[in-house]
Amino acid sequence: MSDRSGDHAIVLGGSIAGLLASRVLADAYDQVTVVDRDQLLPGTQPRRGTPQGRHIHALLARGQQLLEQLFPGFTAELAGHGAPIGDVLGDARLLFGGHRLARAEAGLVALSASRPLLEDRIRARVRALPEVRFAPPSDAVGLRCSREGRRVTGVRLLRRADASADEVIDADLVIDATGRGSRAPAWLQSLGFGQPRADRLQVDVGYVTRRYQLPLDSLDGDLACIHGPTPGSPRGGALARLEGDIWMLTLFGMVGDHPPKDPEGFDAFLRSLCFPDLHDAVGAAEPVDGPAGYRFQANVRRRYERMLQFPEGFLVMGDALCSFNPIYGQGMTVAALQAIALRDHLQAGIAPRSQRVLRALARATDAPWELAIGADLTVPEVDGRRTPRRRIAGAYVTRLQAAAARDPALARAFVRVTGLVDRPEALLQPSIAARVLRARTHAISAAERHSDPVDGHPGMQAR
Ligand SMILES: Cc1cc2nc3c(=O)[nH]c(=O)nc-3n(C[C@H](O)[C@H](O)[C@H](O)COP(=O)(O)OP(=O)(O)OC[C@H]3O[C@@H](n4cnc5c(N)ncnc54)[C@H](O)[C@@H]3O)c2cc1C
Repeated sequence: MSDRSGDHAIVLGGSIAGLLASRVLADAYDQVTVVDRDQLLPGTQPRRGTPQGRHIHALLARGQQLLEQLFPGFTAELAGHGAPIGDVLGDARLLFGGHRLARAEAGLVALSASRPLLEDRIRARVRALPEVRFAPPSDAVGLRCSREGRRVTGVRLLRRADASADEVIDADLVIDATGRGSRAPAWLQSLGFGQPRADRLQVDVGYVTRRYQLPLDSLDGDLACIHGPTPGSPRGGALARLEGDIWMLTLFGMVGDHPPKDPEGFDAFLRSLCFPDLHDAVGAAEPVDGPAGYRFQANVRRRYERMLQFPEGFLVMGDALCSFNPIYGQGMTVAALQAIALRDHLQAGIAPRSQRVLRALARATDAPWELAIGADLTVPEVDGRRTPRRRIAGAYVTRLQAAAARDPALARAFVRVTGLVDRPEALLQPSIAARVLRARTHAISAAERHSDPVDGHPGMQAR
């Protein structure tokens, strides 16, 4: 070991969070081993370990910026693979809270790629790093600890191919990026560290996705249309043109109001949405493949940074640390924010201190968590603690969305915050707050929903 943080780091989970962690570890460790239970072959077929890959994965503007920082030329590379590129506000229809946001250039890049393509290209970049190697498909089944029990010194793996016995691989640092099903709480418990507290907010979201071959101008030239839940209806959906000129339509419903998978039920759900854009774009087109479903129960944030004892040599990242209601499209971008936070702690020759890094990862996660929880709590059926601060914030955002239907400056400010480019406080700066408070908002008729801009919704008064 020379000016590096350690000889060997192991990353458990070779999905987005694990790959981005590996990217920054490669600058600080002589060898980085990525372990996944799936065979991670080149290609863009959805794989077993990431069933969410069959559904729309919006890459937030901040995520695009960070991927470009970690892998220079990434956006152009994706465009070379056919992913449409545009502006997040100028080339996308955003229908939030029952309002059609005003159109303007936001100066932020929308990269419209399928999740398997994004993962494939990130993996190719990581595979090309000389420090990184991918282990044969194996299940991580536990941690190995030092004799005095304060430091993780390796992992226990079970190879998939021949159901072979446990093997132990030594490492200076082990990162768990195995997603929502992470066993880290149980592993830590068995080593005597106890378990982290988990913050949870139940949302019971159902997704159903179909893909279509539609004319390129199906959204009049727009790349995507995102329809959030509306007051009185926890339903929405998104339609996006992806690489290969395939269109993906995902419908979702919260608090058990799930879209059906059968064609008639799916179509009725689509027609029931507040705005007709998604239905108008798809029309009577036949999907190119069967419906894929996914059920997501709860936002879960594991508070490792608050544990009284935590071993050195071990970290938890990505969905394993915090997983969000997917309708806000935050997971991949938060994984990138966490990777950057980790990078800041990998100084030459110094091994990262677990609790310090965990606190930095928590800070990177705070704002997206608050945004997701705050938005979920505006749905009356979601059962959670509505503090006065959250109620006021919810009412303010509701008013801001209504005003942003007519005011492009507010629409721009809003997408910068929801795209995780700016912190939520940016919406409170005097120039923005004054525009929100000055704006007149009024209810709309059903006919108005078909034209833009729309600046109100009948259900607004109910909240
Ligand atoms: C329906 C849905 C839609 C979503 N939409 C968006 C979106 O629009 N935008 C966005 O940014 N994010 C979205 N997300 C979140 C996004 O998928 C994740 O945040 C992102 O993939 C990062 O996850 P991860 O790498 O931490 O874990 P995952 O992607 O879940 O990957 C975990 C990896 O660990 C492996 N693994 C698991 N257990 C073991 C084990 N014991 N041993 C070895 N390997 C193991 C798995 O094979 C897998 O490769 C969505 C999620 C869902 C569920």
